[in-house]
Amino acid sequence: MAKTKGYLVDTTKCIACRGCVVACKQWNQLPAEQTRFTGSYQTVPDLTGNTFTIISFHEYEEDGRIRWYFAKRQCMHCLEPVCMKVCPQKAISITDTGAVVRDNDKCVGCQYCAAACPFHIPRYNPTTDKETKCSLCAERTAEGDLPACVKACITGALEYGNRDELLAKAKERVNNLIGDYPNANVYGETQAGGTNILYVLADVPGKYGFEEDPKVSTAITAWQNVIKPYFPWLIALTAAGSIFSFFSTRLLKVGKEAHEGESLHG
Ligand code: SF4
Ligand code: SF4
Ligand code: SF4
Repeated sequence: MAKTKGYLVDTTKCIACRGCVVACKQWNQLPAEQTRFTGSYQTVPDLTGNTFTIISFHEYEEDGRIRWYFAKRQCMHCLEPVCMKVCPQKAISITDTGAVVRDNDKCVGCQYCAAACPFHIPRYNPTTDKETKCSLCAERTAEGDLPACVKACITGALEYGNRDELLAKAKERVNNLIGDYPNANVYGETQAGGTNILYVLADVPGKYGFEEDPKVSTAITAWQNVIKPYFPWLIALTAAGSIFSFFSTRLLKVGKEAHEGESLHG
């Protein structure tokens, strides 16, 4: 694959204005959804079939004062997307620039991708009976435009570009932050095999609700590595077993009837 592209989310520059969330809704023509106040400043509680990105809020009391850790959430556009590997319809693919995109016509809404995703991203839309997620605005970037969310960000917290250049920038930023934020780190460099969406975090990933080491469930790994390669054989064996069972039952029945017939006439 050629050099991949993605964007850097510098959480230390994000002011949680949610301009990116609104821009994503507008570009993708997604309807607004009813929310209710639950005591958190996180207005949209989770990704949905009609919401491809949110700002997640995490509130802590530290040194006698409240601190918020917030981060934009969406598909991470993994370098080795498990969602693509498990999709039985081959509805998920990677573009030349590394965006992980879904073909709406091929998707049957089976939700295997959601079960496999180490970041728990795809969401089912019951109205369309399809699974949904961020496309990294592949149709916009193919025309040389920025992803809608990146274009809308007023603080420069989102930056689109080549992954290797963004990674270098992220590391430099972390080096500058480390004096004031000793736990500052880059997220996405190695997690789940590396992702095209990278983050500068001022503290450990857990503070932002990220898993330190996101993993694919063992059931999915078993399916991928152990069962799936032999799946056609398993189907054939199951079919052969069924046929054998059918004929052996029939033969036993015929044999028993013949034996009973002989006894009656004997
Ligand atoms: S974050 Fe999940 S949905 Fe997105 S590319 Fe990775 S595995 Fe697929
Ligand atoms: S890249 Fe596009 S689809 Fe993805 S969150 Fe941003 S605006 Fe939404
Ligand atoms: S537009 Fe930029 S600053 Fe506003 S919430 Fe999104 S990432 Fe943060």
